[in-house]
Amino acid sequence: MSKVRHLLGISGGKDSAALAIYMKENYPHLDIEYYTSDTGKELDETYQLITNLEIFLGKKIIRLTGANNSPELPFDHFIKMYNGYLPSSNARWCTKKLKLEPFEDFVGNDPVISYVGIRGDEDREGYISKKSNIQSIFPFRKNIWSEDVIGKFLANTNIPLAEKFYVEFMTGDKLPRVLEILGTKISASYNQQQKLTQLLDLGIKEFNAAVFEFVKTTNYPLANEINFPLITNEEILVRADIFKILEDSGVGVPAYYKEVAFEVNGKMGNYARSRSGCFFCFYQQKIEWVWLFEQHPDLFAKAMEYEKDGYTWIQDEPLTELIKPERVLQIKEDYIKRSERASKVKSPYLLDILAEEEGVGCASCFI
Ligand code: SF4
Repeated sequence: MSKVRHLLGISGGKDSAALAIYMKENYPHLDIEYYTSDTGKELDETYQLITNLEIFLGKKIIRLTGANNSPELPFDHFIKMYNGYLPSSNARWCTKKLKLEPFEDFVGNDPVISYVGIRGDEDREGYISKKSNIQSIFPFRKNIWSEDVIGKFLANTNIPLAEKFYVEFMTGDKLPRVLEILGTKISASYNQQQKLTQLLDLGIKEFNAAVFEFVKTTNYPLANEINFPLITNEEILVRADIFKILEDSGVGVPAYYKEVAFEVNGKMGNYARSRSGCFFCFYQQKIEWVWLFEQHPDLFAKAMEYEKDGYTWIQDEPLTELIKPERVLQIKEDYIKRSERASKVKSPYLLDILAEEEGVGCASCFI
């Protein structure tokens, strides 16, 4: 039986940092290897968060880079290979070369459980390795299993096996209803998500126990484990819980989240950087570029340097245009308007919410 490795990737974002803390506090006996894929282009605040986490965890966070033998920083090594061609959401070579490939090299052929910090209030799956020896688990969600495991467990052809495992773990009043749901085939009028929700609502622990037994009949890495403590976890963690975990642990919320006030034509606004990742990341919002220009002018100048070959970080808008005073003013005004509309939400996490509304971005870099 191969030894299963338990891995947790630290992106520099709040959710993966909180997950590392959560796992140490709740599952101290799991021997988790923490790693971070370093592009060499993160904000200092991100590197500080990683240092704080190492102190809290009492463990080194392993640095993975895509260019181990290069004298240059990883991103600079690859941008040369790509002849100055900047990555974009349509050509995301940076994630492939700097995040995914180093991770898959680190894993090799070992069976791996990869813990992913997608929250209970998010509707996305994140990066799922296509390698069959890597199995993702989502401890913050009601459904801790990945889409592919659920697809197999709830497949119409698997109904008899799913019923068999459920009967082993469930007794009492709810069992007839569970068997009724399990026996209902997925169809055009009854989809997998509906079936999953109904089953989880009738008992998370029982659902997890049945899925775990099913997984043992497959080639998934967890088939090598006799016990898996997360199957009894019923906690669902949302945004506010993440901030609380970071603050209570003393690790702290990444400093780039600290809001800075600005004024435009008599109106006040607040900006900050809302996500981890490279300081020049093309996923950042226009207001974050303005934040970088005004709060980290040295880094902004470096981001401009990369545009020297004619490629731009933002489609149709070179950074030289973005920093023209009238354009900065317009971006700030637009942002204030958007914040006012969104402030009906009345959340202390408005900036974070706005950033996520912009799109999922890169799961490897931001979670
Ligand atoms: S943070 Fe952005 S630029 Fe950096 S590797 Fe991730 S997607 Fe690419």
